[in-house]
Amino acid sequence: MVNALLDGLNEPQAEAVVHSGGPLLIVAGAGSGKTRVLTHRIAHLIGDRGAHPGEILAITFTNKAAGELRERLDELIGGRARGIWALTFHSACLRILRREASRVGLKSSFSVYDADDARRLLGHIVKDLHLDSKKTTPRWLASEISRLKNELISVEEAAEAANDAKATLVADIYREYDHRLRLADAVDFDDIIGLTVGLLRDFPAVAESWRRRFRHVLVDEYQDTNHAQYVFLRELVGTGEDASELSVVGDADQSIYAFRGATIRNILEFEKDYPNAKTVLLEQNYRSTQTILDAANAVIKLNSQRGPEKRLWSAQGQGPTIQGFNAESDGGEATWVANRIDDLVDDGETTFSEVAVFYRTNAQSRAFEEVFIRRGIPYKVVGGVRFYERKEIRDLLAYLKLTVNPDDTVSAQRVINVPKRGLGDKAVGAVAQYAAANDVSFAAAARAVDDIAMTPRARNGVKKFTDILDKAAKLAETAGPDEVLEQVLADTGYLEELSASKDPRDESRVDNIQELISVAHEFSTKADEDAENDTATFLEQIALVADSDQIPEEQGQVTLMTLHTAKGLEYDTVFLTGMDDGMFPHERSMGKSEDLEEERRLAYVGLTRARQRLFLTRASTRSVFGTPQFFAASRFLGEIPGGLVEWSDSTPPSKPVKFGRTPSFGQPIAMKDPGDVPVVTAGDKVEHAKWGEGKVVETKGSGPRAQARIDFGVGDPKWVILRLAPLTKV
Ligand code: ATP
Ligand code: MG
Repeated sequence: MVNALLDGLNEPQAEAVVHSGGPLLIVAGAGSGKTRVLTHRIAHLIGDRGAHPGEILAITFTNKAAGELRERLDELIGGRARGIWALTFHSACLRILRREASRVGLKSSFSVYDADDARRLLGHIVKDLHLDSKKTTPRWLASEISRLKNELISVEEAAEAANDAKATLVADIYREYDHRLRLADAVDFDDIIGLTVGLLRDFPAVAESWRRRFRHVLVDEYQDTNHAQYVFLRELVGTGEDASELSVVGDADQSIYAFRGATIRNILEFEKDYPNAKTVLLEQNYRSTQTILDAANAVIKLNSQRGPEKRLWSAQGQGPTIQGFNAESDGGEATWVANRIDDLVDDGETTFSEVAVFYRTNAQSRAFEEVFIRRGIPYKVVGGVRFYERKEIRDLLAYLKLTVNPDDTVSAQRVINVPKRGLGDKAVGAVAQYAAANDVSFAAAARAVDDIAMTPRARNGVKKFTDILDKAAKLAETAGPDEVLEQVLADTGYLEELSASKDPRDESRVDNIQELISVAHEFSTKADEDAENDTATFLEQIALVADSDQIPEEQGQVTLMTLHTAKGLEYDTVFLTGMDDGMFPHERSMGKSEDLEEERRLAYVGLTRARQRLFLTRASTRSVFGTPQFFAASRFLGEIPGGLVEWSDSTPPSKPVKFGRTPSFGQPIAMKDPGDVPVVTAGDKVEHAKWGEGKVVETKGSGPRAQARIDFGVGDPKWVILRLAPLTKV
């Protein structure tokens, strides 16, 4: 036994690390060392139990988490860590699928369609079926189909179960969508899991060989697995005599991906699913101060849907009191946050890289960005319009994808006339029609352009396009993605078109393209002996980049991100911003209690990211669609015991700041039932719980978006959302 491995662990942690034999479940609250146990367990398996690194599959939720796991293992066991598969569900299944592609009817060069590709394909279908794309949006269809796939419901089963017009429509489109995916030799993200499950189920010998390979399967953040992932694990690990050792760690209170089909059933019923499982509970939190834990525990306690009761305690001491700030506007909130960050860094209490600002939705980053730029605070936004989602990048990646998979229809249709080569909608439509009539991919139809009726100019354009593709595909056989990209740029004249443009945005597009070539070049030349550096692998890496992967590696920047992205991470100083009802909890989640409970878990995740200092901020008015609107304090603030938070609500001076007042939130304001929303028109007198009597100046919107501008006799009239404002008609 290598004692060093167990030295830094408490007793239940060590017990989990050395457990051998049956399935293992570690359930514990945030910051209790679950991820740490996972790494140490892997090191123990290799170092003390003689497991071969290649026998270990470790699954984490994000690529970033997988990278961190590999790093930590590298520290613990050095070079031997390299043979371990430490991957996300998607990357792991994709690797398996590539090797077994032919069995599920794919070529090994199949494409992976990301969310945007999938929506485009659905958009084509909606158009071809002459549906109204405003009523039947590709986004809605994508989420409906994703839901079915996450539940492993096949096209046939969906059709059979459909018992109303809506479900029938979804089932029809699901069928067509799947057909076109296969025609394009492509899979979407959900297929990556679903097809792997199918593979393991339909080919017992294949399942058996993978089971023999992975004798140890470990899963972090198990509470966020969906049904398809759950079944994948079951099929991979097996249940009989030859079952592999499965270890999962998680926390039902941190399940925040229900909207992607995650279900806490998987962690709550683990012992039922695996009757001989051993369960280990961890109760000591090593991350946060007791104050932070008390706040987090008080909030999550109010959920009715929970796992076993956990008593989390910290040996870190009480630590500083949580500081709250009640701003008048979102701009004031951002300024206050910037001031606090400046103060902390000036005083040497922390560094920029140890500070994180969290918010509920991406759009909230803008207010912070503006102030941070003005104040010279270095920052990085995780998410938002991401590099790989920009138009020019997607265009070029489409060309690259076509070099690997010529049948990739979405990509071909995307760039057949990009840059412009004289093809109108009619010509493109004719190619698409030929493809449909002959049941071939779009690019294959383009190659048969001589058989398609169109103008000579258009035909020339199509030929030019296929020539470029053929030449690029040939180059890709021997050269890296950077060279292929450069050739595509030269042959298509893409850069020339941008340079000739008068649109100022096109200038940054040129920069972005340069950036992409640098990324490709770095990839092509990286000196990792067992990594492949061909175009297919490059594309795969990009396709799998999730939001959380864009967390800056450089030091010295404040990190701005949504609460969802923050999972599993930790920072010395955390700002939880936008703590207003309607912002967080999100307006859409305030109706149903299960949605509200999911938001509360998200609050728990956010609160427990902080090691030392926690700040809670809100703003009474925010600009929504360009107009200022009133917001009440988040109900989650009211759920934190008053003594843990010191509030201030003056206009933010840099320092000193006066603390000590607790805010007079009164009852957190619930969203009214539609029937209770006051109906007002201009001229009506109203009574507002905070601002007193006022007169309605004008109204706009209807239903949940109904708003009124009210003159309270002080300052300018204020816009309020009628469903949220504590307002009665008098
Ligand atoms: P989350 O639920 O947020 O994912 P977690 O349970 O996975 O949290 P870890 O991230 O593994 O928790 O650990 C939280 C912090 O506590 C880390 O900084 C980790 O290094 C530290 N830690 C865990 N166990 C110990 C220990 N026995 N001694 C010292 N530090 C520890
Ligand atoms: Mg963790």
